[in-house]
Amino acid sequence: MADLAGGCLCGAIRYQVSGEPAMVAACHCKSCQKQTGTAYSVLLGVPADSVKIQGTPKTYTESGTSGMPVDRKFCGDCGSPILSDAKAFDGLLFIKGGTLDDTSGISVGAEIWCDSKAEWSALDSEVPKFPANPPAG
Ligand SMILES: [Zn+2]
Ligand SMILES: [Zn+2]
Repeated sequence: MADLAGGCLCGAIRYQVSGEPAMVAACHCKSCQKQTGTAYSVLLGVPADSVKIQGTPKTYTESGTSGMPVDRKFCGDCGSPILSDAKAFDGLLFIKGGTLDDTSGISVGAEIWCDSKAEWSALDSEVPKFPANPPAG
């Protein structure tokens, strides 16, 4: 599969991912809603060592539900959220799907954190749904 490429709205931050995402999930958690300003994030879980970033994103660190930190990286110039580094998911980075240059060929495989799904979320998929994080393994 071709490499994935994307970046923020203003172009100060660019990234490339070699290979395919390990998983693609729509995340309805409250933090994703706040960070993106809309109903949910589409997250591409990719191996951390497959990601190359140009530019220097800012980092906002919050405490995840597991108690482990989540580094939310975003463009300090235009505000686009780029990716999350959740320490509870060692070795994976979660790219915000909307920042891809080409979003075709990406399909959501699960919906997570459905307990906080917005009533006005237009997403009504047939994929597995989880109230919070998917079960490990
Ligand atoms: Zn930017
Ligand atoms: Zn989330």
